[in-house]
Amino acid sequence: METPLLNLKRQYQQLRPELEKALAAVFESQRFIRGPELKELESAVADYHGIAHAVGVASGTDALLLLLEALDLKPGDEVITTPFTFVATAETILRAGATPVFVDIDPATFNLDPNRLEAARTEKTRGVVPVHLFGLAADLDPILAWAEKNRLWVMEDCAQAFGAAYRGRKVGTFGVGGAFSFFPSKNLGGFGDGGLVTTADSRRAETVRILSEHGGRDKYNVVMLGHNSRLDTLQAAVLLVKLRYLDEWNRNRRRLAAGYNRRLAGVGDLRLPAEPEGSYHTYNQYTVRTGQRDRLQKFLAERKVGTAIYYPFALHQQELFRKTARIAGSLEQSEATSREVLSLPIDPLLTEAEQDYVIEQVKEFFG
Ligand SMILES: *Cc1c(COP(=O)(O)O)cnc(C)c1O
Repeated sequence: METPLLNLKRQYQQLRPELEKALAAVFESQRFIRGPELKELESAVADYHGIAHAVGVASGTDALLLLLEALDLKPGDEVITTPFTFVATAETILRAGATPVFVDIDPATFNLDPNRLEAARTEKTRGVVPVHLFGLAADLDPILAWAEKNRLWVMEDCAQAFGAAYRGRKVGTFGVGGAFSFFPSKNLGGFGDGGLVTTADSRRAETVRILSEHGGRDKYNVVMLGHNSRLDTLQAAVLLVKLRYLDEWNRNRRRLAAGYNRRLAGVGDLRLPAEPEGSYHTYNQYTVRTGQRDRLQKFLAERKVGTAIYYPFALHQQELFRKTARIAGSLEQSEATSREVLSLPIDPLLTEAEQDYVIEQVKEFFG
């Protein structure tokens, strides 16, 4: 049986009539840039989060970058984040003119460990970018409390966590802004690149919008150095259709995760992902740890079970960040984790028989 990590073809087949209708409407209107579907998506996403503003941009990376630019960083400023994440989290801190400062993760959650923040703080620290990795909210209460005490901002990298919540509240609504990605493999994925910024602050929303349109208040009133970073109308049309299914898909992901948790408990040396009290994990990835990771991955590949390693290296281990980032304290947990993680199939449309098959193969490996 073939069980890919993610089965976007199946999702497309299921939604094909609705998607084709939505795309055809854009083709007919020929309003590919800032068409009405974009406004509709922005207000649907703002409503979904119960937040005042949502601004579509060209990618999740640009969502991070434009938010950081709207925070007016100066050369030498420091922004604390995790090294166990996708490159965009730290790359955008550099692009915005600041220095990324890496602190270690809590290996139980894969997320930034709030206990490491204070030791990383200097007079140059401006803020912290927690990442809600794999769909699990970072431990926001202590992060927000520490930031408030030190007059620093918190900006959320929500790229993997659309629909996830922390103590009953959706991620992307806690700090100065949330950066979301619509990359096809995210929980809400488009037909290409796309991203979005959420914020409660109307001036910040306006700045992000201006930055996304060449820095102009309008076409011939350019007030800052901007970008061309818009969310295409076609992407917005696709995302509006998929948004209607997102909660159901996230529930499916959670059901599959619960199945893995129940049936893989105690198998070999596997360590299963945690879901701390009060979090609503949306499992963009279901990621286990084992000392035999590479052998397990090879075994599963031979049996056509799709897996992936997120992430085989922490960011501070890569050349760019070796030269540009500051390391605060030991990053031993991030390094050890990167050697042991493996993500198993958690496609929201995965069938019970397919999950049974995956579980059987994993059990067979560990004998
Ligand atoms: C995907 C991702 C991004 C970047 O999003 P793109 O839409 O691919 O630019 C940023 N941060 C994290 C944690 C991601 O997973």
